[in-house]
Amino acid sequence: MSDLTKLTLTDAVKGLKAKEFSSREITQAHLDVIEKANPALNAFTEVTSEHALGMADAADTKLAKGEGGLLAGAPLGVKELFCTKGVRTTACSDILSNFVPTYESTVTQNLWNEDAVMLGKLNMDQFAMGSSNETSCFGNVINPWRREGEDTQLAPGGSSGGSAASVAADLCLAATASDTGGSIRQPAAFTGTVGIKPTYGRASRYGMVAFASSLDQAGPITKSVEDAALMLEIMCSADEKDSTSLKIETPKWTDSLSNGVKGMKIGIPKEYRVDGMSDEIEGLWQQGIEWLKAAGAEIVDVSLPHTKYALPAYYIVAPAEASSNLARYDGMRYGVRQEGDSLDDVYSTTRAEGFGDEVKRRLMIGAYVLSAGYYDAYYLKAQKVRQRILMDFEEAYKECDALLTPTCPSAAFGLGEKSADPVEMYLNDIFTVTANLAGLPAMSLPVSLDKQGLPLSLQVIGKALDEDTCFRVSKVIEDAAEFDAKASNWWS
Ligand code: GLN
Repeated sequence: MSDLTKLTLTDAVKGLKAKEFSSREITQAHLDVIEKANPALNAFTEVTSEHALGMADAADTKLAKGEGGLLAGAPLGVKELFCTKGVRTTACSDILSNFVPTYESTVTQNLWNEDAVMLGKLNMDQFAMGSSNETSCFGNVINPWRREGEDTQLAPGGSSGGSAASVAADLCLAATASDTGGSIRQPAAFTGTVGIKPTYGRASRYGMVAFASSLDQAGPITKSVEDAALMLEIMCSADEKDSTSLKIETPKWTDSLSNGVKGMKIGIPKEYRVDGMSDEIEGLWQQGIEWLKAAGAEIVDVSLPHTKYALPAYYIVAPAEASSNLARYDGMRYGVRQEGDSLDDVYSTTRAEGFGDEVKRRLMIGAYVLSAGYYDAYYLKAQKVRQRILMDFEEAYKECDALLTPTCPSAAFGLGEKSADPVEMYLNDIFTVTANLAGLPAMSLPVSLDKQGLPLSLQVIGKALDEDTCFRVSKVIEDAAEFDAKASNWWS
């Protein structure tokens, strides 16, 4: 029965509808694999087995009658920052270790409305701040991938490290994730999985623990481009409960993703050819270009001149918004409260003990760049840079329909390799933060293995609201790349 965990989401849904197997069977198969793998990978923070089997039985009842939604009976994982009614939601921070939401996030509710099954909650960087999943209060997630002939533990990327690792290791058919500066795409790239961040406003932020509200977007991590389209069209919706949710219909991307790229213009931004980029990544990029040409696309060189300012602007805007969003955690309304001699003492002890080091670093940077005297020099300047970055994309999109770039400057790195130097860690986000700053859809998909046997990925950045092109370009690359490598199953 464990073969059921190897299915793509799309095939699993078809098999369930055709009654080739039941939801209870495929759910149990996943629970069995999680039990074996999770002690080694630490991808799940909580496995909600009983809840999962209950949802599976309910889906089976519907399926038996020929009913059931688009994901009927399919077992999924949920990143620890989506509020799930009655199931602890901590954002992987001690300060929320006792927080059990009384309501459901819109994104997860949309999945349950289609009769999907929740296996449990997935580990992540604390408050989604990080690129390696090393800041979680539940400990590191271990990347299922290893360098050939080595047993060095590698980072799964972050912040959605648990989502990426669990999909890569077949612990769930697909997972929810979120992306503020690359947290869907970079972990997807580090684990040989597919991830997409939609246009800002496509997915509701209601019930997602906020990091930086003008950048945060939910999206899926999956095993294939088609699965990503299926998940995303269900996750996205117009939502009255989120004032930044776009009040527009979600297209049916699964219908159009195989339409090809004939006649499309694909832009290659020269600024993404950064110093020190490996020949392998350069080669992979070139290979992607050739595949798209062969499929009938035209390749054009474009320039995004403000790219070099994107990372510094992101690391001002994101902490600034975080310092404001995380002000709510003071021990009064949510989460854990530490006792103290005075109200101020309660506040400061609660926050000092509840937040991890990286979160504190961001809160201090955020408070600093927003403070009187520095606001204009840092925050306002960063906002102006953000506008320039958006204008760069608008200019480039006069020449092309989508952009092709690498997702990350390197393959997965070792745990501990970058955690001592925050700037080195932040540099990993160099190709991903631009799409968040400009609010554009961006997708990552695995293309090949490097010399050490680790997955490498390409990124497709689309125009606002044009996820359709991201899917179509990615599908062409996916078909040409025929990437089917899996991490060796060392944990079972
Ligand atoms: N790695 C980036 C950061 O640490 C992005 C995180 C994210 O997208 N949530 O801020």
